[in-house]
Amino acid sequence: MTERTIHILPEQVASQIAAGEVVERPASALKELVENSIDAGARSIDIIIERGGGGLIAVSDDGCGMGREDTILALRRHATSKIRDASDLGAIRTLGFRGEALAAIASVSKLRMQTRRADAAEGVEIIAEGGEITATRACAMACGTQIEVRDLFFNTPARLKFLKTQTTEQTAAVEAIQRLALSSPRLAFALSAEGRTIIQAARTASTLERVRQLFGAHIANRMLPFEASGAGMRASGLAASSQESYPTARLLLTFVNARTVRDRALIRAVTQAYQTVIPRGRYPAVVLFLELSPEEVDVNVHPMKTEVRFRRSGAVFELVHHALRARVADQVQAAPAAVVIAAGTTAPAQAASPPPVADRGAATVREAPERPLRLVPNGVPVRMSQSALGLGFGRSAPEAQPQPAQPQYVSDNAGPRSAAAPRYADLRVLGQIFTGFIALEGDDGLILIDQHAAHERVTFEKLRAELRGGAIRVQAMLTPATIELNPARVAQVTAAMPELRAMGFELELFGPAAILIKGAPAVFGAEGGAQLLSDMIDAMGEQGFRGGRETLEEHLKTLACHGSVRSGRVLRAPEITELLAELDRTEFKTNCPHGRPVHIEFRRGTIERMFRR
Ligand code: ADP
Ligand code: MG
Repeated sequence: MTERTIHILPEQVASQIAAGEVVERPASALKELVENSIDAGARSIDIIIERGGGGLIAVSDDGCGMGREDTILALRRHATSKIRDASDLGAIRTLGFRGEALAAIASVSKLRMQTRRADAAEGVEIIAEGGEITATRACAMACGTQIEVRDLFFNTPARLKFLKTQTTEQTAAVEAIQRLALSSPRLAFALSAEGRTIIQAARTASTLERVRQLFGAHIANRMLPFEASGAGMRASGLAASSQESYPTARLLLTFVNARTVRDRALIRAVTQAYQTVIPRGRYPAVVLFLELSPEEVDVNVHPMKTEVRFRRSGAVFELVHHALRARVADQVQAAPAAVVIAAGTTAPAQAASPPPVADRGAATVREAPERPLRLVPNGVPVRMSQSALGLGFGRSAPEAQPQPAQPQYVSDNAGPRSAAAPRYADLRVLGQIFTGFIALEGDDGLILIDQHAAHERVTFEKLRAELRGGAIRVQAMLTPATIELNPARVAQVTAAMPELRAMGFELELFGPAAILIKGAPAVFGAEGGAQLLSDMIDAMGEQGFRGGRETLEEHLKTLACHGSVRSGRVLRAPEITELLAELDRTEFKTNCPHGRPVHIEFRRGTIERMFRR
């Protein structure tokens, strides 16, 4: 007489559990609602969010609307008009198909839906709370559908607890709409949050125009179209010139059959196409549309439908990679001579030859074409465009994986040694190699110093000392500059103003989506301040900057890294001497703030053994 301990959960609890998979946060609810509007044939979609979407998400469209009976069905689980049987799963042409979203959203919110079909005399209004329908009535309205979702997760406190700040949730929501709006340029989108218009995108036939509407002119002006087809597939879109790169993959947007998809292989195909032309660890801005027969791709992998499986993933990789590689290679050829060798310095001419190109994965990466070399008169300190060179200066971007340094042909006793670093300034400078490393003859070995890591450590320690001494020194810019902001990030940047100021940026909001920068951390000089600030904004996590002094120090590492990325260039002899002297004065000089080695020593014995001496 065993007592029964298993029972079937009430429908409502089951729905709440299921809802967790589809509706993770306000942005995912919003995405589902807008996808429904797109599937309903809307031409214009208006969105309002309050409190990051947690307070209110309202979506209204001018799509086909629903009839009275459908309205009630729509809130039930597994209710859909988009597929009929399992065979339809093989060729899905709508954004929705699982029949889960509305039910899921309704089960964890207070929902009001008004909808009217073109052939109906009046509309229907339906009100539900926690999935229970509490009222239905007729209403007067134009054709289309309006849905208001209030107090998301009000009845699932566990989920509510996991919501991030309103700023973060708002950013995620706006980014979700940016992606949907990109894939449907022919629809008009408007989004306002906390009463402020954030997106106002009129219908357009052009993806480039849509990019401009969503992300501003700066990015749009740097995007070039690309296209390639093969193997029954087509890859097309817009790719930023190789002069542009970003510390995060936020502007790397991939779509499969007009569906937003984050697929690792697709992203890898894109980033590999840019390999060696933008600094390692940084990302290009790319809008990629992959079109292929619906039978070729399974979108039913994940409840949120952001993952897919390709039947021929190798062919997909190849096509995307080639489409972009051709575009990127063109730009490299067209790029102005970017390499500058100051005559009479220790910098060897080989510094300008392209770095070795890694050959990984399915596709063959073509060697970057030879770049022209320009010699300039002695001592003119001209910056070299790293993006054109693609040397690994960006490698220390915070999200990049630390790469254990492993020189070839080196036996175990070579490598980073933390014990008793020599005074670098006392050593003989052999020169700079690969425009990235300083070679020194040590007492008992050959020392290579990573100039970026070294500079990063030096600037980080300076910034930290300044901060501890009271404030980071600001250098005013001769002419203030404006930086366009991605509208999705305005709230985040606004919230981060105090931290940005504490980091040495003198700035103020300028219009609805721009920043005016008047000064930058003096350590780096004011000149590159605008670029540095946009990098910091791009690198800013979902949370923006928050927290006490300790986290500010964390951000200083990022700042030091981005500031130092920009310093990667051919060094003249006096600059090498100065960098070494500064490094000697610095605590923790053998590692960069992210922990990568600043110096690697090839012991004399090892070298001699390699030569069998
Ligand atoms: P799915 O989109 O997977 O079919 P949903 O739960 O998102 O499932 O929506 C259920 C059904 O409700 C849809 O199949 C559609 O028929 C109807 N529907 C939802 N939103 C709208 C809308 N904005 N306009 C017209 N019909 C809608
Ligand atoms: Mg749907």
